[in-house]
Amino acid sequence: MKIKKIETFSNQYLSFVKITTDRGDVGWGQMSTYHADITTQVFHRQVAPYSIGLKLQEQPNFADHLQLIIEKEHKFPGSYLLRAIAGLDTALWDLYGRLLEKPVASLIGGKPGKVRIYGSSMRRDISPQDESLRLRKLRDELGISAFKFRVGAECGRDKDEWEGRSEDIVKVLAKDLGADVQRLVDGNSCFSPEKAIALGKYMQDYGVSHFEEPCPYWEHNQTKLVKDALDIDVAGGEQDCDMSTWKSTLEKKVVDIVQPDVMYMGGLYRTLEVASMANEIGLPCTPHAANLSLVTICTKHLLTAIPNAGNYLEFSIEDETYYPWQKDIFNGNPFEVIDGFVEVTTDPGWGVEINLEWLENSDYRVTEIN
Ligand SMILES: [Mg+2]
Repeated sequence: MKIKKIETFSNQYLSFVKITTDRGDVGWGQMSTYHADITTQVFHRQVAPYSIGLKLQEQPNFADHLQLIIEKEHKFPGSYLLRAIAGLDTALWDLYGRLLEKPVASLIGGKPGKVRIYGSSMRRDISPQDESLRLRKLRDELGISAFKFRVGAECGRDKDEWEGRSEDIVKVLAKDLGADVQRLVDGNSCFSPEKAIALGKYMQDYGVSHFEEPCPYWEHNQTKLVKDALDIDVAGGEQDCDMSTWKSTLEKKVVDIVQPDVMYMGGLYRTLEVASMANEIGLPCTPHAANLSLVTICTKHLLTAIPNAGNYLEFSIEDETYYPWQKDIFNGNPFEVIDGFVEVTTDPGWGVEINLEWLENSDYRVTEIN
């Protein structure tokens, strides 16, 4: 069995990959979101040429091929190449799932079933009162029992979105959501260690359980200072896609919870490797999955398979009113939440079908055997 054709369907936000073998088997994957049109260029220039004609075994065994691409393209390490490789990795997992008639979860040691979510807010342009309103609605209507909200400003150099917002939202949500709802916060690289520690102690008093990216994420020593000073779990790693960075983060014990992103990492194989390294030193893995595209589906499957899965799946609460590009991507609703859980079904592969109309309206490119 060989890869005969690799097609991509893209717009600026999203790019899907379809792989077809010489036997006619197909698999669908996705590259990482945003600037996906650029990632698609990288894909056809630096990933597809090594993969077209690739001989596939009967069982999934292509980690070395992904590594080989990284080595062949060693002058271009980093995000774009790995965002593109994620498209290949996730399409091949789907292909094997369809071929072997199993969900991807089952191919990697997990199994179908329910996965608890936390509702993840992406917004800072919202008052604590309005955030409270919508989180309470989701708690009451969908049974979601954990939420993450935003403090500080994104890479904000110690400045809050507006003065006092961080303390306000922590206080308002502690009161409004109640002690039974777990509360997580994301600093998105905002704070110096001094400010992060002060805010962290304040949040501890209000029962927040998870402080994500308190300091500029690339400043590991700063994050570690915060981690060592607080009782609250400090989480991080969503931007990191380089294995040597991960090794150093883990060796130095920079965080309490690791958060690799399946799509930034270059797919499932490499994310499983990070989860496994974290497991060796007893750290939980709560991956980053910040939108309702395939990243959340892949992460759902992954969480059923790793022994150190964190408490929940990150599940964006922003629908197409905030992210219009998320509209009508898939057939049906693969993101249905019931009583605070989503489900990994027994459907083969990722268990989703991409909407034909969406595909027809995308930019098409193909790399194939002549
Ligand atoms: Mg984050």
